[in-house]
Amino acid sequence: MGLYRDQGIVLRTWRLGEADRIVNLLTERHGKVRAVVKGVRKTKSRFGARLEPMVHVSLLLYEGRELDIVTQAEALEHFKRVREDLDRLAKAQVVLEATDHLAQERHANARLYSMLLGALRALAAHDAPLLVPAFFLRLLSTEGFHPLLHECAACGARYGLAGFDLAQGGVLCESCSARGDAGGLSPGGLDLVRRILGGDLSGALGTPLGPATIEVERLATRALEYHLERRMRSVPVVGALEG
Ligand SMILES: [Zn+2]
Repeated sequence: MGLYRDQGIVLRTWRLGEADRIVNLLTERHGKVRAVVKGVRKTKSRFGARLEPMVHVSLLLYEGRELDIVTQAEALEHFKRVREDLDRLAKAQVVLEATDHLAQERHANARLYSMLLGALRALAAHDAPLLVPAFFLRLLSTEGFHPLLHECAACGARYGLAGFDLAQGGVLCESCSARGDAGGLSPGGLDLVRRILGGDLSGALGTPLGPATIEVERLATRALEYHLERRMRSVPVVGALEG
């Protein structure tokens, strides 16, 4: 591949030696890329603040064996309004971190890329209570986790849906949720989850903070943790180390 051009969003950075930095980027066409930025920490670096977390950049990279090398970077968006607000900044960090955990290296995922860019733009425009939970739920859906939302995941009942169980993969009716250790889900919470995953994301993001948004936030966080745990357990090397 040699030199290649792409756009990306900086997910995470860390120092490498005295002057260099390693950056994890989510790129549009090459998936997650880990690259070295040489001399970035010198005061006269030509890269300046273009390769800080959250910046949307246009890049020219050189493909290396383990790490690529950033040879040019031009900032497209800094998301200044997110940086200047601690609450939004914290939300952006959570979103970047979750992406960093789930994105696969050198595996293009255009949907994930546009979701991340969309989330940062939405956050710059409005500090929505459901921004992070909506991102988590949609991130999981790109990973193949599509919860059943219109019928009980255990018995198929379509009415009286009142719980949510991750192991069963969706909502549960009242009697099925009473049997297990499913978390409760109110009609308002269920409606928000349906809208987030069913094509009314912007409507859901307009919902003000309230009991239903808090419920969805808890559900989405549990769902992401559950998925990450299961995925970590499924990596053979982890089992080998533990065993
Ligand atoms: Zn049921």
